[in-house]
Amino acid sequence: QTQSQPRPHIAVLNFPFSTHASSVLSIIKRLAVSAPTALFTFFSTPQSNKALFSTGQQRHLPSNVKPYDVSDGVPEGHVFSGKRQEDIELFMNAADANFRKAVEAAVAETGRPLTCLVTDAFIWFAAEMAREWNNVPWVPCWPAGPNSLSAHLYTDIIRDKIGTQSQNQDQQLIHFIPGMNKIRVADLPEGVVSGDLDSVFSVMLHQMGRQLPKAAAVFINSFEELDPELTNHLKTKFNNKFLSVGPFKLLLASDQQPSSATDLDDEYGCLAWLDKQKKKPASVAYVSFGTVATPSPNEIVAIAEALEANKVPFIWSLRHRSQANLPNGFLERTRSDGIVVDWAPQVNVLAHEAVGVFVTHCGWGSILESIAAGVPMIGRPFFGDQRINGRMMEQVWGVGVAVDGGGICTKEGLLSSLDLILCQEKGIKIREKVTKLKQLCQNAIGPGGSSMQNLDALVDMISRSY
Ligand code: UDP
Repeated sequence: QTQSQPRPHIAVLNFPFSTHASSVLSIIKRLAVSAPTALFTFFSTPQSNKALFSTGQQRHLPSNVKPYDVSDGVPEGHVFSGKRQEDIELFMNAADANFRKAVEAAVAETGRPLTCLVTDAFIWFAAEMAREWNNVPWVPCWPAGPNSLSAHLYTDIIRDKIGTQSQNQDQQLIHFIPGMNKIRVADLPEGVVSGDLDSVFSVMLHQMGRQLPKAAAVFINSFEELDPELTNHLKTKFNNKFLSVGPFKLLLASDQQPSSATDLDDEYGCLAWLDKQKKKPASVAYVSFGTVATPSPNEIVAIAEALEANKVPFIWSLRHRSQANLPNGFLERTRSDGIVVDWAPQVNVLAHEAVGVFVTHCGWGSILESIAAGVPMIGRPFFGDQRINGRMMEQVWGVGVAVDGGGICTKEGLLSSLDLILCQEKGIKIREKVTKLKQLCQNAIGPGGSSMQNLDALVDMISRSY
């Protein structure tokens, strides 16, 4: 780079709900190490930044990543009505203006003109911002998998073929869309053909699908070998600038890896507890439904009863507020078999040799982390992309099963699925498949692997000065 070219300044615009910003931050940290002369200004709401940049996590933050607050869009004195997604709607309705204001202030403050705009793909209106800001490249990040991305890219075609709100077509396969020939209409995220298609969230997804082809490049949290055919298709769709650089969380540079258990978010001692189960490899059930999905009180009771009846050793990551729904005396009775924690260091828990099965809501992060660790899954999807992910997990990759018995966890259904994975011949086959995918994943993130090559291409793309 010559003296006359500006040093790269990459603004990163986040969707500050669920795990989106945390997922984007993990890859930005990695990019920042590879592009040390570039400045990454990272925009999220004060609440989201507070959670992301707490003292523990600051430790591994490269000095060229600078958090900036953007308004949450909640008007002064606003009283929340309790309506679903009210916070998301307030944020999105004001996001265009608020992001512009925040980025322009950061450019003025740092004296570094913008050279690239990286955004969560949900921030679809950034295509226009990038154009107005001197035509800098817009490089959206899809922090999930390629199959759900395909559903949004092809929403107009799916709506044309299937119609909207057509309940009786639930079982029809979406064979006409790349990557979706095993996906049923019922597996599609809300907002494609079902649900309130005019909601702020649905409109955001629809617009995103339409705007993404304008991007200079799109990068996602996956590795190419997981979906080779769809990856190749998406490469043509995005003019060869479709970059799988996942799993994001496993790509951290060596000096960003936690060096000890105290560096991890392991307040409840999950790893020490797992160490005590080492004598029985692949025996522990890890149960978690991510950061947003909450099972009903009845379902929590059913899960607890299954764990207690099966006597399987377990770690259950269950938010404090939901722990009140556990059956009376459950924690005392199962004290020697398992632990219920508010938060677990999931990547490390899954990688532990004692863990044998993951009961999951099929959030993309969870599916990918389980594959990367070679752990078979029992899927209980709730909403959004979780049904597509769960269907891929069972029907295409064959690395787990949907929980037995009608979509939600019942005591009998979970018992039967635990037995299948942990004790039956079918479970052994599933374990073999996930072990093979784990190997492919390790190759992808190893030296010269596909995710590493794509990472280099991404670094080059975003840190070039135009
Ligand atoms: N996670 C974790 N500990 C927990 C629960 C979740 O570390 O106790 C992390 C998990 O590793 C994953 C993320 O939170 O990276 C959840 O993301 P996912 O896409 O699976 O689900 P979401 O929360 O977005 O629904």
